[in-house]
Amino acid sequence: MELDSATGERIRVLKAIDFDFAFLALLTHRGLKPMSRWGKPLAGAGLEALRQLGLQTRKIRRTVRMDKSFNETVFACAPGYLDIYAAHFDHRPVDSSAETVRIEGFLFGYPPCCVAQYVKHHYAPDEFPIHKEQPLFHWVCQGCQITSLLVPAYKEIYRLVDRC
Ligand SMILES: [Zn+2]
Repeated sequence: MELDSATGERIRVLKAIDFDFAFLALLTHRGLKPMSRWGKPLAGAGLEALRQLGLQTRKIRRTVRMDKSFNETVFACAPGYLDIYAAHFDHRPVDSSAETVRIEGFLFGYPPCCVAQYVKHHYAPDEFPIHKEQPLFHWVCQGCQITSLLVPAYKEIYRLVDRC
């Protein structure tokens, strides 16, 4: 599989901002993630490139302390999960509660087994077998049977982004 030239050009624009950002965009574009989050505001060419890839975007305002806030950009092929994310997280403080980890894991397409084990051992993530050599965005649970399905597809998307 290769990217057509228009898609490649859009991925190059995103890669100039950040490699992982471009990787998330192509994973989402290809349907391997229901939605993704870029933890920074986005405007101009980056936002336009996401939209040209056929992704819908939302700006989400998060608070960190009483007087501090920042913007995130979330994107997906369709609005459903973006609406859920906005309803739950827009104008809300950043937190790492078990509830948040479960909701984010669901919306971002992490294997449910990995999310469950991460929640259980949330304060000692280093004890997990992390596939450091794999281009993943989630902690991999012990004995995971889902991650091995994702890895070849993720690797292929990683290769495509890398070649742009
Ligand atoms: Zn798992």
